Amino acid sequence: MPTRLTDFIARHERIFVLTGAGVSTASGIPDYRDRSGEWKHQKPMEYRDFVGSVAARQRYWARSYFGWQRFSRAAPNPAHLALAGLEQLGRLAHTVTQNVDGLHQRAGSRLLTELHGSLSSVDCLDCGGSLARSDLQQALLDRNPQLALLSGDIAPDGDARLWDFDEARLDIPACRSCGGILKPAVVFFGESVPPARVQQCRDALAGADAMLVVGSSLMVYSGFRFVREAAQLGIPVVAVNRGRTRADELLAFKLEMDCTTALSASLAQLAPGTAAPPGL
Ligand SMILES: [Zn+2]
Repeated sequence: MPTRLTDFIARHERIFVLTGAGVSTASGIPDYRDRSGEWKHQKPMEYRDFVGSVAARQRYWARSYFGWQRFSRAAPNPAHLALAGLEQLGRLAHTVTQNVDGLHQRAGSRLLTELHGSLSSVDCLDCGGSLARSDLQQALLDRNPQLALLSGDIAPDGDARLWDFDEARLDIPACRSCGGILKPAVVFFGESVPPARVQQCRDALAGADAMLVVGSSLMVYSGFRFVREAAQLGIPVVAVNRGRTRADELLAFKLEMDCTTALSASLAQLAPGTAAPPGL
């Protein structure tokens, strides 16, 4: 029983939570990195490749058309539900997620910032308009009926590896208003998080009395910076993560265990009877 984590949560009441891919793996969404922090899959697409190359966008949309079908059916797991439960108990000041799957929101977290955006929405890079991802999926299928026959393997962030599909033949829909380039409303590798969004998180961290990292190796700077800032502010940081994190030397302690087990157990200890039923 991770009583150390429960004690930590019980001693604080304005906890700033940062979550990463590890919180969603139990929902069937693959993780980027292995336990030593190295890439498990092909590296994700960089922003400059996406905006600079039609071929890159064809590759992205073909793969993510397929990936989204699985991704959009994923459901919150006990780790998401436990964090929403801790928020309802008044322990959490704010949750910041590096994930783009919308599962914290669906689990009931409300004091939430999706640091890297959400795959459920698509933006026009030219006019700033946006549309629902489901509408773009339909537009892709209308123009490319061969997408109905896709098969492949799922990868992180709604990406996939396709079998026997000629990505170069994909006809990509443009913005209906201006004909501009459409991009999922997520921060790509090589792209900055919008400054106002970072500031919202920094403000929440400044008012926090503790920080809890869940399921992140913190290899991406956009998340790591909050741990560094917490350390500078004298805010104690703990982590629940299988394997190494970039901030190990800044942590008060780390639980190297599955975050669904750790968080569910802590919620059950803090509020008996409110924990999610096993298997959810
Ligand atoms: Zn547009």
